Amino acid sequence: MRDTDRALVQAAMAVAKLRCRSDNHTVAAAARTTDGRVFSGVNVYHFTGGPCAEVVAIGAAATQGAGDLETIVAVGDRGRGVIPPCGRCRQVLLDYFPSIRVIVGPPDALRAVPVTDLLPETYVWSDHQVEVPVGPPRTGVWPMPVVPGSRQSAED
Ligand SMILES: [Zn+2]
Repeated sequence: MRDTDRALVQAAMAVAKLRCRSDNHTVAAAARTTDGRVFSGVNVYHFTGGPCAEVVAIGAAATQGAGDLETIVAVGDRGRGVIPPCGRCRQVLLDYFPSIRVIVGPPDALRAVPVTDLLPETYVWSDHQVEVPVGPPRTGVWPMPVVPGSRQSAED
């Protein structure tokens, strides 16, 4: 871990301590851009599937016009320390920032690893998009219902 990685963990812990004070916000994340700026976010718990802190931090960075993120870390509230990203966040991080490093591990052995190490045999969305050929408009395939009064008929 670099000094900047340790500082990023401290930044996330400071946000967790300051902002994670209810069941709605229990995790804080901090992300550093390639030019050294740090953006943070907290999770937004909701039973419909509110976003994780990592996704909120990505959104905060995007809101401020940040460039690529190079390192990210999430920490739990109440001193739970660094927590690894969930599966969805791993996929989001990989798709948005393929070379991002993620800080993981126990308190006495934190390390920054490439997100690709956290998601082997990765699904790459763009590799599986099939181009559908565009043909002529489909007409006459289905019987077209005539709604009375909706159009002129030939007899009118
Ligand atoms: Zn997540």
